[in-house]
Amino acid sequence: MTQPADTIAAIASAPGAAGVGVLRVSGPAASAIAQALLGRPPQPRHAHFAAFRDGAGELIDRGLLLHFPAPASYTGEHVLELQGHGSAVLLDALLRRVCELGARLARPGEFTERAFLNGKLDLAQAEAVADLIAARSQAGARAALQSMEGVFSRKVGALLQSLIALRVHIEAAIDFPEEEIDFLADPAIAARLERLRAELAELLREAQRGLRLNDGLKVAIVGRPNAGKSSLLNALAGSERAIVTPIAGTTRDVLRESLSLDGIALELADTAGLRDTDDEVEREGVRRAHGELQRADVALLVTTAADCAADLAFFDALPVGVERIVLINKIDLDQAPARHSQCAGMHWLWASAKTGAGLDALREHLKRLAGAGSGEGAFSARRRHVLALQQVGALLDRTAAILTGSRAGELAAEELRQAQHALGEITGSYSSDDLLGAIFSSFCIGK
Ligand code: GDP
Ligand code: ZN
Repeated sequence: MTQPADTIAAIASAPGAAGVGVLRVSGPAASAIAQALLGRPPQPRHAHFAAFRDGAGELIDRGLLLHFPAPASYTGEHVLELQGHGSAVLLDALLRRVCELGARLARPGEFTERAFLNGKLDLAQAEAVADLIAARSQAGARAALQSMEGVFSRKVGALLQSLIALRVHIEAAIDFPEEEIDFLADPAIAARLERLRAELAELLREAQRGLRLNDGLKVAIVGRPNAGKSSLLNALAGSERAIVTPIAGTTRDVLRESLSLDGIALELADTAGLRDTDDEVEREGVRRAHGELQRADVALLVTTAADCAADLAFFDALPVGVERIVLINKIDLDQAPARHSQCAGMHWLWASAKTGAGLDALREHLKRLAGAGSGEGAFSARRRHVLALQQVGALLDRTAAILTGSRAGELAAEELRQAQHALGEITGSYSSDDLLGAIFSSFCIGK
């Protein structure tokens, strides 16, 4: 990679008064800036106690100066770190001084972007840096750390190697057209492709769990008006966030609540009743509820023993992969709750949003779905990673169909080439400037 010619600087610590504030500089001028501030060449990776002075020799602050010469630094460039008092005024003055000495203000995420461009970390690892900083739960932070350490990237890399090997194998056959048909019928090729598909399916499952650990489990609460959706949301959130009223159709918008259950992040959305309605405002609410279901990890149907058979229709247009929970509410009113154990693929619970009975079982189930106890190797992932893996899955399905059908080697090789590309987008071996821009601009400044 080419070294960017300029030197960037930013306050790396959070704004506001604090014990210590950190300013970070990266680029070719970092060494000269360090020397100018210290008055002599800094020792690599050594904490110098220094007086930071402005251009007129006036004292700005005293603090620590650390120099990390390239390439053994976060960005792979010369890096200078200044630790002073955590005062916005002092740090601003120090930043101005550093810019006078040849640095410019860094864009959000520019340090990590340079680390990526210099091969210090791949794209999935760089994203994990931002996810680690933004983590809202213990489990999420642990998972982001795993991804930052390269656990996810190594799995993607291993899959990529198998994929490339298979593609090379098939392309070799294309070069000998008279043997191609027989060659592609070779059970060893089919077996390798099957193994690849199984590995991909496993990685996709792990990545989906990683996405939940990262983003939180998205739960859409659905059900007819007055089923007790808002009451349930309130009971889980432990507040009066949603308006509970006995008048049908009160929850017109989608109400959201984030909560952490034993270190697991949940995103709950209370939707309006999904039903045909003539009321304009309510119709909009219903439309949003449908949208909410498309994005959800879990559809939580709140119903009663009497309505539940009819209400199962709420699950009708649900995308595959969405977990289904049927919660029979108001058991405090109904002494003989109906059991529908014959319905497979759904988790059944009996509860009362009013008394709180049965809600612990719901919490436990949600925690399990969110990936609680997913253990040591669990890594974080982003939606774009999951989408890329799903795309690879579809391409491998097509490859398999070609191998058993037309046996056109060129077509199979082309599917595999696209799959290779989609996998490479995860770690950034193939990535557009637009993608990089979108990813790094969402970072905070100074990271
Ligand atoms: P939503 O329209 O689905 O959001 O329903 P609400 O949460 O607004 O509740 C509708 C009515 O049912 C309110 O009067 C609640 O107090 C009542 N309700 C909700 N859950 C229970 C429950 O478990 N037991 C009883 N007895 N009433 C409940
Ligand atoms: Zn409601």
